Amino acid sequence: MTENATENGIERYELLVVGGGVAGLTAATFTARAGLSTLVVNHDESILRRNAHLENMPGFPAGLNARLFADMLHAQATRNGANYQQSRVETLSGSLDAGFVATVSTENDAASREIHADRVLVASWAEVSYLDGLGVEIRDAGSKQYVADDGLGRTNVEGIYAAGRIAERYHQAVIAAGNGAEAAITLIHDSETPFYNDWVVPEGYFTDRGREVPPGCEEIDAAEQQARQAAARAAMQEYFAEPHDERQRTHPSLVDDEKGRIDWNDEG
Ligand SMILES: Cc1cc2nc3c(=O)[nH]c(=O)nc-3n(C[C@H](O)[C@H](O)[C@H](O)COP(=O)(O)OP(=O)(O)OC[C@H]3O[C@@H](n4cnc5c(N)ncnc54)[C@H](O)[C@@H]3O)c2cc1C
Repeated sequence: MTENATENGIERYELLVVGGGVAGLTAATFTARAGLSTLVVNHDESILRRNAHLENMPGFPAGLNARLFADMLHAQATRNGANYQQSRVETLSGSLDAGFVATVSTENDAASREIHADRVLVASWAEVSYLDGLGVEIRDAGSKQYVADDGLGRTNVEGIYAAGRIAERYHQAVIAAGNGAEAAITLIHDSETPFYNDWVVPEGYFTDRGREVPPGCEEIDAAEQQARQAAARAAMQEYFAEPHDERQRTHPSLVDDEKGRIDWNDEG
């Protein structure tokens, strides 16, 4: 986790990610690994949590519970150093030169708090009213709004990036994840952080060829590989040891019916 980001009473990060769903948490994993102090602010829950069984996520041949997958994305982001707050971003102002200021609130807050950030990555679905007044290009598609980007995650406003469904990508989790990673890498390059590929390679892969280990790459020896594999196996066994116990929410129009379905506003 990045150092406590409060200085002189001001909460400040290099990157604020708005939305801790698939795109936002994947982006945060990449930016935190690149050393950018990253805060994910997430309100409510990822739309993926409505899914009944996630069959098309690469690497899970029998599929998996989507709420478990969402929890694992959260764990991966925070394990790699991202900070996470369950709050709602209400407003955003500022610029790349002056810095951005978001106001956020949680249900228990008496008043909104301010968060300062050098850059902002928009990964909220389906809500972007907090962008009002910044001049970000939005495509209005009737009941839905999409944030326009240059294909790599940059919006028309310097310092503001977009990823996932809100950036009008196809509506599958792997695409949201890949797009979050892509926007994150664009942002990392723009922030002039020394960064290469975010690769972990076997000992000597670069150095035995007389090359420096490039920024953003890591060489690990056999003992370290084994240690990481053991830790990964233990973690995955724990994740999959029990069925996920969170009740699933459904479409808000299908509540209070004979199937006892719960909507997004209910506890459970
Ligand atoms: C019923 C259902 C089943 C699905 N099944 C599949 C499937 O089987 N396979 C598949 O690949 N895809 C599936 N999807 C699609 C998949 O869930 C989405 O494509 C994916 O979740 C999009 O990721 P995202 O990060 O863009 O949005 P999300 O994962 O929804 O994340 C956006 C987050 O931003 C938060 N947010 C919104 N406004 C704010 C704000 N102002 N401040 C802070 N946070 C905010 C939201 O609450 C949410 O947590 C399904 C979707 C649904 C609805």
